[in-house]
Amino acid sequence: MRGLLLGLLLLLLSPLLHAEAPPVISLDQGQLSVLRDPSKQLTLDQARAAHAAGQFRALHGTLGLGYIPDAVWLHLSVERTDGQSPTGWLEIMPPYLDDVQLFHLRPDGTVDERRGGDRLPQSAKEEDYRGTLFKLDFQPGQHEIYLRLQTTSTMAAIVKLWQPDRFERHLRLGYFAYGLYFSLILTVLLFNAANWLVSRRQIFLVYVGYLSLNALQWLGINGFVAEFIFPAQPLLANLALGMSLSLAAAMAFGFFIMVLELKQHHPVLYRISLTGMALCLVTALATPFGYYGVFAPWMLGFGVLTLCSMPWPAWRLWRMGDTGKLWARLLAVAYLIYGVLIAINILGVLAVLPFSEAINLAGMSSNIAHILLLHFAILLHYRRIEADHAAALEKSALAIRQADLEKTHREDQDKLLAMITHEIRTPIAVIDAATQTLEALDETPSADREERYERIRRSVDRLSVLLDLTVAQTRSDVDHWPLTHGMFEPVALTAEVVGLLGSPLAQRIEVTAVEPLPSLIGDDRMLRFALLNLLDNAAKYSPPDTPVRVQIEAAAGGVTWRVVDDGPGIPPGMEEKIFEKYVRVGDSGNKAGLGLGLYLARHIVERHGGRLTVETGRPHGACFVCWLPAPNGEEQT
Ligand code: ADP
Repeated sequence: MRGLLLGLLLLLLSPLLHAEAPPVISLDQGQLSVLRDPSKQLTLDQARAAHAAGQFRALHGTLGLGYIPDAVWLHLSVERTDGQSPTGWLEIMPPYLDDVQLFHLRPDGTVDERRGGDRLPQSAKEEDYRGTLFKLDFQPGQHEIYLRLQTTSTMAAIVKLWQPDRFERHLRLGYFAYGLYFSLILTVLLFNAANWLVSRRQIFLVYVGYLSLNALQWLGINGFVAEFIFPAQPLLANLALGMSLSLAAAMAFGFFIMVLELKQHHPVLYRISLTGMALCLVTALATPFGYYGVFAPWMLGFGVLTLCSMPWPAWRLWRMGDTGKLWARLLAVAYLIYGVLIAINILGVLAVLPFSEAINLAGMSSNIAHILLLHFAILLHYRRIEADHAAALEKSALAIRQADLEKTHREDQDKLLAMITHEIRTPIAVIDAATQTLEALDETPSADREERYERIRRSVDRLSVLLDLTVAQTRSDVDHWPLTHGMFEPVALTAEVVGLLGSPLAQRIEVTAVEPLPSLIGDDRMLRFALLNLLDNAAKYSPPDTPVRVQIEAAAGGVTWRVVDDGPGIPPGMEEKIFEKYVRVGDSGNKAGLGLGLYLARHIVERHGGRLTVETGRPHGACFVCWLPAPNGEEQT
């Protein structure tokens, strides 16, 4: 970790290296003076006259006027005595100044006129250098130098007078530092491209896009696009600078929208960022038509405003760090460093802060800081996601194992239940046969004995229906049960079911039938079972002192049963779910049951061509509606 920080520090400092070799004459100490020329028409003579009239104002530090349409004149006088170096190299930066004109008034009265700026192809420049460089000869005496600057980008100028050997050293160090800087960006770029190829995560691709455009932007700002990529096409180099700057800004908005999850967590910032992104795209579109300078200040101003909102997402990320998410804290730090440095850079370009080399360095260093930290944070983030993913997989494997275990358990239970019911059938049959024999032998049964025989018969019936029910519930493949069809009366069938319920439940059932009712055809044993389920549920899930009403009436070419109770009813939205296998709702967990009754009942009714539903939207209680078609009756609509 310490090594990483040291490396980071070195890299941050490396662009500063080229400031190590100071120019022979530093021109930021008031030797320079400046005059704005809004008409852009002033000639050298007029500029000289203005200088003589004291209209030039002293320039302390470097020139930084922001996006202005004016031409600007700079004046510098150099006094040379015998014995001083006869040559001086005048460097004018930044490289993106469109047009730089030099007028060198020598002591002998001659005027040396030269031209530079990024609208010239490299070959037409005096020196094949990324900025503007004029090699001046300084014979002893008083030299007056006028520079006329014009640009469509920000009006800024850093002027230095070098001794040739010092300049060479400065040049070498500069290229070394820039080489280091851009190779770092390239490495991270390739690394992220590989990350994207392997993981196919969109964010890596966006980051690659952002870094590429960003690198192109800094190559352009520092004059390398013109020097190395389009040396013969200055207009193309200019276009590349404007486009890469605005597109990189658009990508930055998009990238931070994704990384900071603005849409989910900061909807207002999300919309602001989208607006910023749109503004950047408009600027990019306007650039080929020569309107970069019109839109750029708005784009940059909007960027600064957006950067002012940084504390919110950064604070959220920082707080996420409380839960051990180191990546979130790294991201917060990276985002803040990046934002502050970029804000300084933009404010310098807009001339809100004084323009200097440090402004450029702030912008470039922001990249190094955020590339390293952000990149590290993204990796940590995805490592975390992958760990969560692995944990989730493990959890689901566990759940599958548990479900398998439960299935085996249920199958075991079903087998046991089937065995027990089978074993009970024999004694029931014995009781039934014995009762019938006793009844047959009893020639003169008393009313009391008749009543007892009848009770035994009902109990035997109920027991065998209960057995059927239990067996049926263990065998839920109802679609394959064989049906035995016969004619039956709806009211009689209902009475039988009520009888099967036995007291005290039977006492709560109130049956009303609207006669006449058609006779029906079907498997009465099965239908008894379906109806028994409905009545049993109504009684089971409603308070014991409330009635259960069964209304039977002819309807739509068949017969409808409505089973109504005063219980809690079916929770809204569950009206269809309860007919699925093993589904139990509300607090039915404390009542005996498997969640299979309604599933089987519906299948039985449907196999008879009927329908079983539950009424929706009842304020209280449940109402199950069962409809069965009558032979030759009309279909229900
Ligand atoms: P079981 O009664 O064995 O749980 P069912 O398939 O018969 O299974 O019923 C499924 C679920 O539907 C029940 O668990 C219960 O939550 C709900 N339910 C059925 N009938 C009623 C009713 N009359 N009142 C309230 N809830 C009911």
